[in-house]
Amino acid sequence: MENQIIYADNSATTPLSRTALEAMLPYFSEKFGNPSAAYSYGREAKKAIEDARRSVAQSLGALNNEIFFTSGGTEGDNWIIQSVGEQYASRGRHIISTKIEHSAVLKTLERMESRGFSVTLLEPDSQGMIYPQQLRDALREDTILVSIMAANNVVGTLLPIKELCAAAHERHVLFHTDAVQAVAHVPLRVKEWGVDFLTLSAHKFHGPKGIGAAYIRVPLTPLPLLSGGEQEKSRRSGTENVAAIVGMAAALEEGVQNLTHDTEKIIAMRNTLLEAMEKIPGTIITGDRENRLPTLASCIFEGLEGQVLVVKLDEAGICASSGSACFTAKIEPPHVLTAMGYPPKLARGALRLSLSAYNTPEEIDRIVEELPKAVSKLRINK
Ligand code: PLP
Repeated sequence: MENQIIYADNSATTPLSRTALEAMLPYFSEKFGNPSAAYSYGREAKKAIEDARRSVAQSLGALNNEIFFTSGGTEGDNWIIQSVGEQYASRGRHIISTKIEHSAVLKTLERMESRGFSVTLLEPDSQGMIYPQQLRDALREDTILVSIMAANNVVGTLLPIKELCAAAHERHVLFHTDAVQAVAHVPLRVKEWGVDFLTLSAHKFHGPKGIGAAYIRVPLTPLPLLSGGEQEKSRRSGTENVAAIVGMAAALEEGVQNLTHDTEKIIAMRNTLLEAMEKIPGTIITGDRENRLPTLASCIFEGLEGQVLVVKLDEAGICASSGSACFTAKIEPPHVLTAMGYPPKLARGALRLSLSAYNTPEEIDRIVEELPKAVSKLRINK
């Protein structure tokens, strides 16, 4: 058992659930029809897509026609921000977001700026929290969209989306949330939150990669993202990825069904990790202690290089991250931590361990044993 790899980077991606895999398999073989075809094979594939849409809608508390299939979180974020920008530009050209968003949002906003939009990025506090009053203060006559993530991918802070959305709606401004890290990890009903748009990605909840969905509240209509064969009500043309759509719906249904049961177990494991981190001298726990993703434990080890620690943990058979998968090719610290006020040098010592229901208490025990050893070895070698 000693040599088994422990996967603790579930915020980057999750292993595919067996239920999702089994639901998908027929669509790679005998159920291969094109959903746009009129004969039985096509009708079968079309039905699978519409059943999946109904299932995703139910899992989120949405209407069936409010769900559009996309290729994942990046596409959903890009589509909604650009679509709203273009559709409402005559009303105003101001968009509000935060400094802790994923690059899928931040880079899209940079592009919007280059097209003449003005962007305000709200500053988080030292826990990565954003408050409704901050948003109220930033809203302007020409604000057309607010885009704020539901759960942060680096420190796990859960943002008060219902209240933030209400603050935007007080001024009749549309609200989008990137809920990629939140869906199937915290209770979520779109109508209770009141959001106009939401993006999600299947590979963060044991679904396949390269598939996601956008919730778009009726009667809002997005601009077409891709033109062609009129799939997805002409909003996103192209032959659908039937197997992935079916797999996503199965994974989401399973994740939401098991949420209450699994969350308790995951929180207990996460808390054990946070306690173990805290016991190591020179550690700062990052993110909000209370309003936090059940799955995510994160900290900074003073004077250490997070990337080097990740390599050391890998040698011990533990998959971890120093922040976000998107930063692995860069030496810069995660922008989320510097936005929270940590000096770049300190922020470089970041470590993120993220769990799922597939982790076991035995695995956590091994991380608790290996982590202090890895940290002290690196400190001695400095
Ligand atoms: N938004 C957040 C908060 C994420 O964590 C990620 C992925 O890490 C994305 C968006 C991008 O999602 P995808 O990998 O499906 O494009």
